[in-house]
Amino acid sequence: MREWEKNIRKTVPYVAGEQPDKPDMVKLNTNECPYPPAPEVEKIIKETEIDKFRLYPDPEASELTEALAQFYQVEQDMIFVGVGSDDVIANAFLTFFNSEKPILFPDITYSFYPVWAELYKIKYKTLALDKNFRIKKEDYYMENGGIIFPNPNAPTGLYEELDVIEDILKHNQKSVVMIDEAYIDFGGESALKFISKYENLLVIQTFSKSRSMAGMRIGFAVGNKNLIRAMKDVKYSINSYTMNRTAILSGMASVKNRDYFDLVRKKIIATREKTKKRLSELGFDFPDSKANFIFATHKALDITDLFEYLRSRNIYVRHWDNPQIKDYIRITIGTEEEMERLIGEIKNYKEAAC
Ligand code: PMP
Repeated sequence: MREWEKNIRKTVPYVAGEQPDKPDMVKLNTNECPYPPAPEVEKIIKETEIDKFRLYPDPEASELTEALAQFYQVEQDMIFVGVGSDDVIANAFLTFFNSEKPILFPDITYSFYPVWAELYKIKYKTLALDKNFRIKKEDYYMENGGIIFPNPNAPTGLYEELDVIEDILKHNQKSVVMIDEAYIDFGGESALKFISKYENLLVIQTFSKSRSMAGMRIGFAVGNKNLIRAMKDVKYSINSYTMNRTAILSGMASVKNRDYFDLVRKKIIATREKTKKRLSELGFDFPDSKANFIFATHKALDITDLFEYLRSRNIYVRHWDNPQIKDYIRITIGTEEEMERLIGEIKNYKEAAC
């Protein structure tokens, strides 16, 4: 090994779901929204003044944070925006998880958390979910350097009621508690209502799911203004201009159309509930998801084989080799037609297998 090679920062990266682009595929593997963004987004993009691209964008992304502040009824200086919630969470890890004590998160959860912890050399401890994949709140009473988990959790889709979240907050006033609400708009109630009560709470959300804008990369955090100031200090120590002009304006346009947002959420929820029924009828078991996906298993079917079969039929769902969850597939909720095709192919598979 050469001298310089010894100093390379070694890291095992997060592996995102594949992004195939095939004609006629049904893509249900990365929890994207099957519907287009609000119509105003297209208008904004078409009207963008190309000449403005000469100039740096507003580092504060003010038009976007103003729209978000209005939507969520908080002060503008309580909002931090970033390039997807991955960027926001990475920044929050770097800013707040800086203790000798380990940070805590569930053992089955968003698999990016341990990757950031390793990269930033943050000690961490994973806590087992119960046998029904529920968070055991008492486990989070121990001393820690911070806490993060998604609500609803991923990939289970299980939502914890706000009394569970508040109980964890009450027992943890000495470290920053982050609730990753990537999927909150599909049926859960946001912890945003605790923001003024708990100054160590950071709520993180994204435009990638309920706002149909995964490709635009917009995420945000809401918290006490001291938390947000600290995150901005870290961001401005790395890259002031993370949010490009198009993202700022199209994000603003999306937030301003509340009716469209509500319409899309309702459609996804209705399709999810219908899909649950269909999967149940086919003998699948799954936690009762409040997200835009279903985490399903089947006592009589080989899930890995089913996953491969669906793939061969141009239907992409997500599967992990992790022994704890290898008998599950995670199915994103697509359009009604896409779910019909999925159910049809599962039936074909079952008939051939039995
Ligand atoms: N948190 C959770 C729980 C997720 O599942 C995802 C999506 N992979 C993210 C955060 C990040 O999403 P994005 O960066 O697109 O906002």
